[in-house]
Amino acid sequence: MHFLDQAKIYIKSGWGGPGAVSFRREKYEEYGGPDGGNGGKGGDIIFEAVAGLNTLIDFRYTQHFKAQRGTPGMGKNRYGAGGEDLVIKVPVGTQILSDPLPIDGSEDEDGVPDYEEQEILADFTQVGQRITFLRGGDGGRGNMSYKSSTNRAPRQHGTGWPGEERWVWLRLKLLADVGLVGMPNAGKSTLINQITNTKAKVGAYAFTTTKPQLGVVLHKGREFVLADIPGLIEGAAEGAGIGDRFLGHIERCRVLLHLIDATGDDPVAAWRIVQDELANYGAGLDEKPQLLALNKGDLLGAELMEDIASQLRAAGAEDIFIISGATGEGMGKLLDAVIPMLSDAVAAEKADGGEEDDGTWSPL
Ligand code: GDP
Ligand code: MG
Repeated sequence: MHFLDQAKIYIKSGWGGPGAVSFRREKYEEYGGPDGGNGGKGGDIIFEAVAGLNTLIDFRYTQHFKAQRGTPGMGKNRYGAGGEDLVIKVPVGTQILSDPLPIDGSEDEDGVPDYEEQEILADFTQVGQRITFLRGGDGGRGNMSYKSSTNRAPRQHGTGWPGEERWVWLRLKLLADVGLVGMPNAGKSTLINQITNTKAKVGAYAFTTTKPQLGVVLHKGREFVLADIPGLIEGAAEGAGIGDRFLGHIERCRVLLHLIDATGDDPVAAWRIVQDELANYGAGLDEKPQLLALNKGDLLGAELMEDIASQLRAAGAEDIFIISGATGEGMGKLLDAVIPMLSDAVAAEKADGGEEDDGTWSPL
């Protein structure tokens, strides 16, 4: 299952610096020749694909990117310095697309304009890949370069060329790294809100209730996508078809986080129901790396929680973490365990020839 993350940004390369108007000043020479140097070139807008980024979330905070101007030329034929390039870092897998404009004079009966087709302008497939996307403007010529046999004291100079500017779309297919599974009321929605708290407003992408909820988790400098997949049991109850569709989402997750309500009637039975459901679905869901979080620790004492964890262990459960999605307790340790599991899963995918595209995109 892929989710679509996208952002619209404005980019502008730097203006070229103006050329200088200057004349030599030397002893005993009242009118020296022209010696104004050229202005410096404006900075480029460069995109670079980097490792360690998984989302376009940063582009929701910063949407305008401008490279520096070139500096003006100076006397004694000194050139202005070039403006600094602006390197915009994007995750591998990002595409840059045009911002489609309405087509002049082409609209439907209700006056809604037709839009141009969106064009793919760049495609970042490898770490380190760099594309100079907008070139900075050239510097203007200094008056020295306007000197001719007929004009020995030119006052002309170039003002510098403007850079280029445009709006573009960045688009990235997100793969949910961690899928949350569990019975209704296990606390999946609460956990995703708690865990993605730092960026809750934009991080928790709002889906309708029938679609997975996505959150971006930042933990110790690592970023990953967590999907709350509702309806494992709920969906199954509504009919096999719907249940299958929800389980299909889980198929694409790298790691499963199985949440269990410790205050439920029978946590061990709840664990079994979900495990059976995963196994029955096939597609290797029950073989995915899985962590188990025994939730709502704030309601029961530590002793009781440990007791339930032992019962789960006796039933065959492994990798159990005691947490409270509501207070955040135990979350640090749980996330510490998620990170290496994800790294292993990514490494295994790479060895396997990478993640193939099943074409199922859902807009955010
Ligand atoms: P979901 O169905 O798995 O998404 O579960 P929800 O996140 O909607 O939680 C179900 C109920 O349990 C809600 O009333 C939550 O407030 C409550 N809840 C969830 N996590 C915790 C927790 O860690 N501690 C306590 N005390 N209540 C929780
Ligand atoms: Mg929920």
